[in-house]
Amino acid sequence: MAKPKRPSASAPPTSVVTGAAGFLGSHLADLLLARGHKVIGIDNFITGSVDNIAHLGGHARFKFIQQDVTEFLFLDGPVDYVWHFASPASPVDYLEFPIQTLKVGSLGTHKALGLAKHKRARFLLASTSEIYGDPLVHPQPETYWGNVNSIGPRGCYDEAKRFAEALTVAYHRQHGVATRIVRIFNTYGPRMRQRDGRVVPAFLSQALAGEPLTVFGDGSQTRSFCYCADLIEGIYRLMMSRATEPVNIGNPAEMTVLQFAREILRITGSPSKIVFKPLPQDDPKQRRPDITRARTLLGWKPNVPLADGLRETIHYFRGRR
Ligand code: UDP
Repeated sequence: MAKPKRPSASAPPTSVVTGAAGFLGSHLADLLLARGHKVIGIDNFITGSVDNIAHLGGHARFKFIQQDVTEFLFLDGPVDYVWHFASPASPVDYLEFPIQTLKVGSLGTHKALGLAKHKRARFLLASTSEIYGDPLVHPQPETYWGNVNSIGPRGCYDEAKRFAEALTVAYHRQHGVATRIVRIFNTYGPRMRQRDGRVVPAFLSQALAGEPLTVFGDGSQTRSFCYCADLIEGIYRLMMSRATEPVNIGNPAEMTVLQFAREILRITGSPSKIVFKPLPQDDPKQRRPDITRARTLLGWKPNVPLADGLRETIHYFRGRR
């Protein structure tokens, strides 16, 4: 199996982050820079934002390339780690960009794996709890194969990520690329777009504007929310570990969407009301990660309580209004 080339004592390790201008990609770039990496960020800004990386402009170890990662990736010089984070990730976004979502999960993953193979770099795929679909096993362990509707509205994302996992494993088996797969559960924090459609920015921006909170369905569906700093630490540990099998990273603290709406009203002190809207098709009824593998293999667990993470996120949203 190809080993990642060891950086010499003098040279910092080089990381390539696809989707570096996105919510999670930009937090990952920050963490890597703080840990001494040279970071090459790639993004085409389809859902990412230059605002997320503006603070890195002029950083001596950060370089940015505006490119669609479904195109051939050519980079000079050594690369030690490839972190493949590029993809629309909000249901509203991937409904708007279904073909780009399928392309970045398939062709984009192919290009990113090809880069890792060529550079003998270690590769990490940002996969998702969506590969479990509307899960019939609860909580979800990595051994669960999922319940996905390939032709439903979420199919473009779910199947792209399932294909991406299969391709990653194929590059590991056939080419000996050192690969890692993280299955990311619902994550929130600063740098989410206020109107990206996901529940955390939706409820927070509605509460801050005094608008009604739009609960879909009767709000009995469950989610488990992980603060971005916890998530990125878990993902860093996974890349540096020897775990080639997929690892769930997320916060197992589960609540219903209606409970979550009430929690947002409590924390923001907002006078907003709660209104009920139709439940989108194939909306998973329950979701909670089984993180036994992350605890055992990485010694990782989330540390940031929901109230603390939401306060940070509210602070960020207030600053942008
Ligand atoms: N949701 C909601 N109101 C909103 C946005 C989302 O009730 O304005 C619900 C959505 O139906 C889902 C949950 O919140 O059950 C989480 O949705 P999100 O889009 O954040 O991500 P998902 O976990 O479905 O991928």
